[in-house]
Parts: sequence; C-alpha cells; structure tokens
Amino acid sequence: MRLGLDIRSDFPVLAQQVNGKPLVYLDSGATAQKPRQVLEALDAYYRHDNANVHRGLHALSMRATDAYEKARARVARFINAADPAEIVFTRGTTESINLVAQTWAAANLAPGDEILLTEMEHHSNLVPWQLVAARARAVVRYLPVAGADAEHGLDLDRLDEFLTPKTKLFAFTHISNTLGTVNPVAELCRRARAVGAITVIDAAQSAGHEPLDVQAIGCDFLAFSGHKMCGPTGIGALYGRKALLDAMPPYQGGGGMIENVEFSGSTFKPAPERFEAGTPDIAGAIGLAAACDYLDGIGRAAISAHDHHLGELARAALDELPGIRVLGPRAGSPRAGMVSFAFNNIHAHDVITVADQQGVALRGGHHCNMPLMKKLGLPSTARASFYLYNTEEEVAALAAALRKVVKFFG
Ligand code: PMP
Repeated sequence: MRLGLDIRSDFPVLAQQVNGKPLVYLDSGATAQKPRQVLEALDAYYRHDNANVHRGLHALSMRATDAYEKARARVARFINAADPAEIVFTRGTTESINLVAQTWAAANLAPGDEILLTEMEHHSNLVPWQLVAARARAVVRYLPVAGADAEHGLDLDRLDEFLTPKTKLFAFTHISNTLGTVNPVAELCRRARAVGAITVIDAAQSAGHEPLDVQAIGCDFLAFSGHKMCGPTGIGALYGRKALLDAMPPYQGGGGMIENVEFSGSTFKPAPERFEAGTPDIAGAIGLAAACDYLDGIGRAAISAHDHHLGELARAALDELPGIRVLGPRAGSPRAGMVSFAFNNIHAHDVITVADQQGVALRGGHHCNMPLMKKLGLPSTARASFYLYNTEEEVAALAAALRKVVKFFG
C-alpha cells in the first residue's frame, strides 16, 4: 500500500474544502487527524460498553475494565515495554512529564543537584523542571543547540561538560517540534546511565511516526500524547521502568489509587493504579489502542520513510523561494516530516493567513519553544508538518501557496 493518497479515505475530515479550496492539512505536528477505525472504536465503546472501570461487578463494568486494561497492554506493546504495569495513562505528554517532575524528581532532588535539559525542549519539557528545581533548590542546565540554519542539532561535542555526576536527571526530546531534528536517544540514554542520571524522553513528536522500543533505547521514562498519533485528545501515556514507578510517591489522591483509607491516613496501590486517581479517560484509552492498531497495521517504518520523504521534498521546494530562512537539519541528515521557516520581511501570522486562504493549514508562532526562538533571533516561524495521509501534491500546494505569499507581500 502506498501512503498518502491510498489511505486518505480512512480520514473523513480530510474530504472537505476550506476557503473554497481542497483542505491541505499540514499541521499534524500540533494534532493529527483521526482515522474512522479510531472514531468507530470510540463510538462502539460508548454505544455498547460504557460503564465505570475497576469498581463494578456488573457485566458492562467488567467489559469496560477489560477493554481499558487491554488498551494498556496494547500501548505497552506499541513501545515494547516489558510489562503493561509500566504504562500510566495520563492526559498526554505534558501531564506525563509533570507526573515525573512532581514525584520522582520531587522525592529525589537535593539542593545543588542538576537537571539537564536541551535548548530545543518544548515548554512542557522545560517549565515542569524549572518548577521542581525552584522548590528543591536544584539547578537546571541546557545542552546547547549548535549549527547554522541548515544543521541545527544538539552540541554533542559538549555533552561531557553538561552531563556530569552532578546530573540527577536528563530530559530531552526525541524529535524537535520546531526544528525537525531527530536526536540520538539511545546514545543519550547510554551517556546518562554512565553518570548515574535518570532519563526522560519527550516522544510527543515521535511516538506515532517512528518505531519505538523503550528497552532498546534504554530510557527510564518516556512520555507521549494520543492526539498526535491519530488517537483522541485528552489521553496519553507515561512509560516508566517498573522499579522506578513502584518507588515513586503518588501524584494525585482520590478513588482508584488507594489500597486502604483510614481517617488517620491511607495506603496506595502499586503502579500504575497509584498514579491514576479518579475515573480515567476510558474511551480515550480504547481509542488510543485503536490508533496503535491502525499505525502498526501500516507500519511505523513505512510512515517514517513517507514523512521524511515529504519533509525533504518540502525543504527543497522552500529553498527555491526568495528571502526565506529554513530551520533544521540539512538535506540528507535525519529530519522528521516537518519544516519550519521564516521570510525576511513577512510575519509568520501573515504567511499562515494567506496560506489558509489557499486551503493550506500551517502553524506559526514560537511553537512553545520561546528560549530557542530567542536564541535563533526569530520572533516566530511558520511550520508545515506531514503525516501518513499527506501527499506529494500537497507539498506542491504548499509551495504554490508560499509563492502567493511572496507575491502578495514581496
Ligand atoms: N513536546 C513536544 C515536542 C510537543 O510537540 C508537544 C505538543 N506540541 C508537547 C510536548 C506537548 O504535548 P501535549 O500538549 O499533547 O501535552
């Protein structure tokens, strides 16, 4: 099966016109569209099985509990976790990272300890660490992004300077949502282990795009969001190594996470229930498992190759335009299926508005990467991001829309 055209009929939302033009959806980096297989799984759950999980003994509750726990096992298989108990359902990447910051980091950081991040982190892998560091009087350091426009990557030559025995935790993104850079995550985990640091990977941009194997990568924690991988909004997961999760204190208190409650105090269930207080997003978990089935039915290696191909095509097409600055890795080096760019004298919001008039959906702004944008000397960029349903014709439509932008403002 060819990706792009051959699977577009799975995505009902794509079959529409916007501003009188066929929709060209190039904003999957922000959120991906949903195939009918996921929509049908959500609909079937609500139509036939809806009930609360864990606490009920009637047929529907048992069916809902079974489906919820099967979804956990499915998500574990999706990233090759050794044990479904290593998967905590959360609202998404942001909540997963906050969970680690509020539990592992809060319990393990002492004054003067260091948290290492990189300069390319999304605010959701940056602000939670600043908050916890301020409370623990720990220090946050940032591994620099190096290189000119066409080669932005982590400055790995300086890693030893930043990753030292003082580093207690190293958190980094797999794929930069602004640059499209793909980081060598297994290598970074290996280097962190050598100094005794815990690793947290932000896989928001990679989970639905690249084959992921947490055991081969060797990470301690990995966070991702369902909505960026064809699943529903409001659901995501935290993978955590079992021994670490079991030793972490609870994050939020409530029903479902307790073993025994007395007026004088409470005891808690083991992971993952300990971290899932209250009624979870049952339908979301089932929808996320359906997204795992859908993506694996196609194959993440094929999706990754397709994304990269469109990213390279887009980059080459954009390089032809006058007055454009294209960020991210040079042609031929690892790059995700996205391209960020800025025109010399045209604001990103104007670029996006004119593109939208052509039916082309782009994202623009600081991409929740304010410190990085400041370092690059840019107030904002526009970004085109590609996924399995995009086509070469849509890359051509992007280039045509941007030629109109240049003509209009140039
Ligand atoms: N990290 C990266 C790299 C992202 O691209 C995003 C979403 N833009 C997030 C974290 C946050 O994901 P969510 O909003 O789904 O929690």
